[in-house]
Amino acid sequence: MKQATKFEKLAAVFEQLEAVSSNLKMIDILSDFLSEITPEEARITAYLLRGKVAPDYEGLKLGLAEKLVMRALTQAWGISLKEVESHFQKIGDLGDVAAGIAPERNSAGLSIQEVFNELQIIARTSGEASQKAKIQTLATLLSRCSPREARYVVRIVLGTLRLGVAEMTFLYGLSKALTGTREKKAILENAFNVLSDLGEVAYQAVQKGVEALQEVQPIVGIPIRMMLAQRVEDLEEVKKHIPGKVFVEYKYDGERIQAHVPKQGDITLYSRRHEKITHQFPDIIAAIQQAFPGKEAIIEGEVVSIDPQSGKLQDFQVLMTRRRKHKVEEYMEKVPVKYFLFDILYFNGKSLLKTPLSQRKEILARYFSNKNGLALAESILTEEVEDMENFFAEAMEQGGEGVVLKDASSFYEAGIRGWKWIKFKKEYKRELADTFDLVVVGGIYGTGRRAGTYGSLLVAAFDPETNKYYSFTKVGAGFTDRDLAALPQMFARYQLPEKYRLVETEMEADVWFEPALVMEVTGAELTVSPVHTVAKEKLKKGGLALRFPRFLRWRDDKTPEQATTVQEIYEMYLSHQKMR
Ligand code: AMP
Repeated sequence: MKQATKFEKLAAVFEQLEAVSSNLKMIDILSDFLSEITPEEARITAYLLRGKVAPDYEGLKLGLAEKLVMRALTQAWGISLKEVESHFQKIGDLGDVAAGIAPERNSAGLSIQEVFNELQIIARTSGEASQKAKIQTLATLLSRCSPREARYVVRIVLGTLRLGVAEMTFLYGLSKALTGTREKKAILENAFNVLSDLGEVAYQAVQKGVEALQEVQPIVGIPIRMMLAQRVEDLEEVKKHIPGKVFVEYKYDGERIQAHVPKQGDITLYSRRHEKITHQFPDIIAAIQQAFPGKEAIIEGEVVSIDPQSGKLQDFQVLMTRRRKHKVEEYMEKVPVKYFLFDILYFNGKSLLKTPLSQRKEILARYFSNKNGLALAESILTEEVEDMENFFAEAMEQGGEGVVLKDASSFYEAGIRGWKWIKFKKEYKRELADTFDLVVVGGIYGTGRRAGTYGSLLVAAFDPETNKYYSFTKVGAGFTDRDLAALPQMFARYQLPEKYRLVETEMEADVWFEPALVMEVTGAELTVSPVHTVAKEKLKKGGLALRFPRFLRWRDDKTPEQATTVQEIYEMYLSHQKMR
């Protein structure tokens, strides 16, 4: 058996990662470490590298307050709070403060498993006396740490690790560690699309080898990355991409939900971002249970709010009032919803990912009928553009926001935005009607009416190949006074002393942020700018920028890594060039 890997070794990896911004170097550092650890350690490492102690979908938060951590430091090493505070004021990073206080000595030989267990206890302790217990556990752990270990333990519990190891960077590292080359990342990425738990993928890869993951199976309870749609500006274009039969479905303006129905036990509802939103929809849970007793399945659809009087579909804003922790029952009455099912991905022990859509729909129709808050998404099967157009008109009339066209013979391509699914909305007919989901990386202080908040926010697109964020525009329009007033508090915890090392821009900002929050932005036109950096390498003369940007809404269902990519913007630019 391999010896337990020491946390000291992982802390050294953290230190190396922090010092580089090149994706290739990061991959090499990860690969060296990952090639020498056990499956369980690989699972733990996948979480810890990203400052987590569980898969993302668990929603298990550490994020201890600075005050609590400072108290743990005093208990760990018997120094006064005053002293800790004064160091903190000077140094500004509690991890560095801890490293400065921890006695210079060899580590107590903590293994990564031990550290992980203690961190999990801290994260999972809740209830009345939880603060005291968390501080105690952390203090005991820290008292056993070397300075370097203490630095990273503190940053993990505070939620300020910020190594910038993107999921894809980790998978490249894992591929190189296990096969000697980065090239098998595609297999791992596909597995990660099906089992969106980085730790589980790392575990299985180390245990069974990368090739074995070609046949990865969904697991009920672990969310599958949702298949996404490309976009056309004209329904005529659909034929180019899907020559055969097409399901044309209403595009509902609600929230995508993936429901995991185990044989026994509780149903879980996941949002597009894999948040557990089960508690918001007791009505949907009851409906699924009734329609579907004793079967195991993963199903997908869109939940939409329905006008109680007219029975008509309502828009997304109305549904959002159901996004709450309290008064759930009251709002269940006030804002009734319907869950429009359009896919089934797993059924009674069998993956349906590689079953053609037409068959998946048959299975769905066999088991789910339209009653009690469940319905099958409205759709037709056709090859004719004229039918598509008519159905689009009908969808709009009924309160849909367009149509989604799906290749009837296609498999479910988890996590892929390909041409097997195509979306079409009316606004797409205007020139720059599609919107961008952009990550906020900086803020510019407001003046006048906006004094005390930000006047505009610097936003960026993501490039999964380089693992960097490229500035694209500065958004100041479209915010309500309430939106603006909320900004300082919203962004306080993401503020950094300087530009984040994975952000590329020539713009100046008053405040820099860790890339964390995503907003949907619309604009009038793409131009080439000297200060923005999207696709700068390709264009040479400057980067792409969005003119006349306007804030539409926060996309808290998206992570920064799910933002609009540089490649998508570049392709849009090329297609507009062609039209001119
Ligand atoms: P967009 O967010 O503009 O990329 O559009 C894709 C989203 O449309 C999906 O994530 C779903 O939430 C939503 N949607 C609504 N109706 C459907 C449908 N019939 N099939 C697939 N997605 C749908």
